[in-house]
This record gives sequence, structure tokens and C-alpha cells, in this order.
Amino acid sequence: MQKLTNRSKVVSNKRMTLMEKIFLPAILGGMFITIKHFFGKKVTINYPDQNREFSKVYRGQHVLKRDDQGRERCTACGLCAVACPAEAITMIAAERKPGEEHLYREEKYAEVYEINMLRCIFCGDCEDACPKEAIFLTDRIVKSDYEREPFVYGKNILVEPMDPGKRIDISVRQTENVRIFKTDRRFAHNR
Ligand code: SF4
Ligand code: SF4
Repeated sequence: MQKLTNRSKVVSNKRMTLMEKIFLPAILGGMFITIKHFFGKKVTINYPDQNREFSKVYRGQHVLKRDDQGRERCTACGLCAVACPAEAITMIAAERKPGEEHLYREEKYAEVYEINMLRCIFCGDCEDACPKEAIFLTDRIVKSDYEREPFVYGKNILVEPMDPGKRIDISVRQTENVRIFKTDRRFAHNR
């Protein structure tokens, strides 16, 4: 019979020997492998006490940016939600009221903006689709939990804090990829 690949193995039907029946060689072989790894280099870390060094192009938790006057950049245009292949983003738009000009940059803003981190695949398409440079992926880790509900991140988590000292600087880890271009433009807006 013609094979599709050469990776298939013919299963042997031969009778087991006495040594094979008592499984001693297999147990000793397994213990040898365990002991060998016991003295070898550890591949695990004590997370969350320790963190791995991430790649420069690592994409983690999102941030919704403010402009240089502290106003929310997002205009609830919905392009990020449309671009999202995992349908992880939902939002409700609202009209800016007189007197709220210091809160929202445009006349429309996202009253509700949620990202379901269990759906998100951290592809960065939302970041690329945003015409207002309002959403970016950072090098923050999305925290683990035992429930599903805490993984739906709202504006209370996503919007950048007002205090400029607490701003998430995503430029630190982005030195070589295309997003440095977006980052530079963002800082240019903020100046
Ligand atoms: S990173 Fe990708 S999957 Fe996650 S919210 Fe953005 S577009 Fe959707
Ligand atoms: S984050 Fe950007 S793309 Fe998404 S709704 Fe806001 S302005 Fe539009």
C-alpha cells in the first residue's frame, strides 16, 4: 500500500519476553530519564515570583491611550472590533456632552469598551486598524484567574491612568518591528 509519509510505524505483534512482562527495564529506563532531567538545566520558572524575559515583539494586555491633555483618544469608531478576528472587542458609543471636552478628544467616545481576554489571540490587528492611535498592545501579562468573568477587561483596566508617571511606555520593548513606527507617531502626537 502506498504511504503518504514515511513516518508511520509497523506495530509489532511479537509476544513479550519475561523481562518485558515484569516491566523492570522500562521502569529503570524511565527513572534514568527522570534523574537525568533532575540534574539538568531547569526549564521552568517560579512564576509569578519570577518572570521570563520577553521577546521585543511580545504582545500582551492592551491599553487605551490618552492624548497629551489627558483626554481619551478612542472615538468608538468600531474599526478595531471589525478588524478583530476573534470578535473579542465590544463597545457602546456615546455623544460627548458640553463640558466633557476635557475628558474625550472627539465628539463621540466609547462609553463602554470591553475586550474579552479569553478570546483575544494578541494578534495586534486592533492596534493596526485604529485610525486614532488609541489602542496599543503592551508587554503586560494578562493575569490568570479561576473564573471567566474577570477576563472581560473594561475601561477601568484598559484606559491609561491619568497620572503621566503611570503611563505604560510600550516603546521600551519595541525597537525593531513596525510598531515602533506607530509608537513614534504616538509620542509625536503627545508632545
Ligand atoms: S489583539 Fe487581535 S484578537 Fe486581541 S482584541 Fe486585538 S484584534 Fe482582537
Ligand atoms: S480603539 Fe481606535 S479603532 Fe477602536 S473604536 Fe477606538 S478609535 Fe476606533
